[in-house]
Amino acid sequence: MKISMSSPDLAAADIQAVRAVLDTPMLSMGSCIADFETHFAAYIGSRFSVGVSSGTAGLHLAMLAAGVGDGDLVITTPFSFVASANCILYERAIPVFVDIDPETFTLDPGQVAQAAQDLAQGGTSVIRWLPPNMRVDDRPSATDRLRALLPVDVFGQPADYDRLRDVADSLELIVVEDACEALGAEYKGRRAGTLGDVAVFGFYPNKQMTTGEGGVVVTDREDWDCLLRSLRNQGRDDSGTWLNHVRLGYNYRLDELSAALGLAQLARIQELLAKRQTVAEMYRQRLKDLSGVTLPGLASWTTRASWFIYVICLAPEIDRSSLIAALDKGGVPSRPYFTPIHLQPLYRERFGYRQGDFPITERVASSTLALPFSGVMTEEQVEYVCTALEEALKRSRVEAGHQS
Ligand SMILES: *Cc1c(COP(=O)(O)O)cnc(C)c1O
Repeated sequence: MKISMSSPDLAAADIQAVRAVLDTPMLSMGSCIADFETHFAAYIGSRFSVGVSSGTAGLHLAMLAAGVGDGDLVITTPFSFVASANCILYERAIPVFVDIDPETFTLDPGQVAQAAQDLAQGGTSVIRWLPPNMRVDDRPSATDRLRALLPVDVFGQPADYDRLRDVADSLELIVVEDACEALGAEYKGRRAGTLGDVAVFGFYPNKQMTTGEGGVVVTDREDWDCLLRSLRNQGRDDSGTWLNHVRLGYNYRLDELSAALGLAQLARIQELLAKRQTVAEMYRQRLKDLSGVTLPGLASWTTRASWFIYVICLAPEIDRSSLIAALDKGGVPSRPYFTPIHLQPLYRERFGYRQGDFPITERVASSTLALPFSGVMTEEQVEYVCTALEEALKRSRVEAGHQS
């Protein structure tokens, strides 16, 4: 049986929508992107929506909208995909990592409050939060450089935005929501994407819906809508003059083929999300009594989860690398998810981070295992993965027993 880590869910109508664009001369900046943006904003419940070439490009533009620049500080999580911290580096700002909550895997709001307060106050209390190798004489200037919070809605669950909002409001910080993994999720009845001042979605093929490559930035702020449109389009203003560039912009446009696919996928978003929910439920039913494995749980504030991947946590005595190897032998791919950002070679080298700097993130990251997951997985495939997992765990227990 062929099992892949993830798989897009493409219907005949999706494919037809892309084909139809190829019958027109408009492969970029046509009606598809405009329609997609209108429908996407309506679905999220935000006033504005700007299509971009990837979630990463969207995060970069969100940093620019938030006014994050050289030497500024942005509080974010080390337990995420690397793009949510890289976007801070693009503008030569400094990510201030704060550890996560061990149950929800999202930013710990209590620690965020402490970090924000310490950084705002300045003095020696800032040292604890700044990257280890930031030069001592840079530290006093950290005061007043805190610009934004960048929480990530990890594995389809929003962070605790009410508490993060309190911190942001008290210090006039912008909240940038990385909602790339949480399309359709809800926090206390409010939809992911409306929880920050600006939010970003990504549509890489493993996400809840796909455009191939692509993303969207959503906001309620009209001034940011204009700015984002200009930035994604080479810094053009809205005068319509093609060769007039008023600011440093980028080519972060979403092409028409991608937008057409996005529009078609969005038209069946309820179905796409429901199919993922069904597969997650199959996993839960099948694995709920398996010892040594903890299944994903919901935060008290998550009124609707949106399944991005299916991540289990392994008991400490289970050797994850041997388990991955054993699964792989049986044709079942699986992955540690995520490697903490502060331990990525780039971040170690640039900021001097080491093992032990964010203990909860590291403990969670060392125990997580993402199983193959998508909305198009069949019951037989889920069964195959679960049987392989059970057998590999059983064998590893026998081997551990022999050794002791
Ligand atoms: C997928 C993802 C992104 C964006 O990824 P792109 O591949 O650039 O679309 C950003 N942040 C997180 C947390 C993600 O999972």
